[in-house]
Amino acid sequence: MKVYLNGELVDKESALISVFDHGYLYGDGVFEGIRAYNGIIFKLREHLDRLYRSAHMIMLEIPLAKVKMQEAIIATMKANNLKDAYIRVVVSRGEGDLGLDPRKCKNPNVVIITDKIVLYPQELYEKGMEIITVPTRRNIPEAINPQIKSLNYLNNILAKIEAINSGYQEAVMLNHDGLVVECTGDNIFILKENVLFTPPAYLGALKGITRDTVIELARKKGIEVKEDVITRYDLYNAQECFLTGTAAEIVPVVKIDGRVIGNGKPGKITLQLIEDFRELTIRDGVAVY
Ligand code: PMP
Repeated sequence: MKVYLNGELVDKESALISVFDHGYLYGDGVFEGIRAYNGIIFKLREHLDRLYRSAHMIMLEIPLAKVKMQEAIIATMKANNLKDAYIRVVVSRGEGDLGLDPRKCKNPNVVIITDKIVLYPQELYEKGMEIITVPTRRNIPEAINPQIKSLNYLNNILAKIEAINSGYQEAVMLNHDGLVVECTGDNIFILKENVLFTPPAYLGALKGITRDTVIELARKKGIEVKEDVITRYDLYNAQECFLTGTAAEIVPVVKIDGRVIGNGKPGKITLQLIEDFRELTIRDGVAVY
């Protein structure tokens, strides 16, 4: 496997970074997770825009322009002969000393890994997932804005640990007011009175690219979509529920905190959106070959 590291395609074993990199020492850096389907990179522009916005927010200057980053991603895909892939782009602050001061890190490290990803077994997409709400609250935007896809995912990892400890694969995270915001690596949608709801990003959710795609697909189908507050009560009484994310795609949810959602099977609208999404992924994007 070849990995892109600061302008070169090197063997996986040689893709090494200093232990003094502040990405390692402090989680000081940003990343993106992108998918390619059948040799076409899905929503590449949106992912690159978000990566550069995340970097701008933490005052990290990515040492290559967006077009060059796109070329580097394509080159990495080609070097690995991949058509279907999960692409991870990581830009860390770079090597510094043991203090926090980012000015000591002169050269950010840019890494592109292209590989496969399987988050959940196929059965889950057919039968639906059971999830729970957990005690750890999502970061407040005034502390760490969830729009920054940073290398510090401890908030989400704590929630994931709580779900796993209780025997579940995914957790619903609430914000400091107890409102539903998102899951540990996915956005959340519910269907209520035939209207699709997802929490507004300002409450503490990442504005997911899959989330935006699903909103667009649903509206095209004539389904009303609202970005509005969702409480636990709304969640438990939803007609349908599903999660969205680049790696997980669209995952139907059939039980939350022991409450059965709808008839306990993936909902009709959810299944239609999964189909529409699949169709879109194989024809929409930037061609690698
Ligand atoms: N929320 C969080 C916390 C995430 O990390 C992600 C991405 N894995 C998402 C939502 C989904 O975003 P996207 O659809 O852009 O992958």
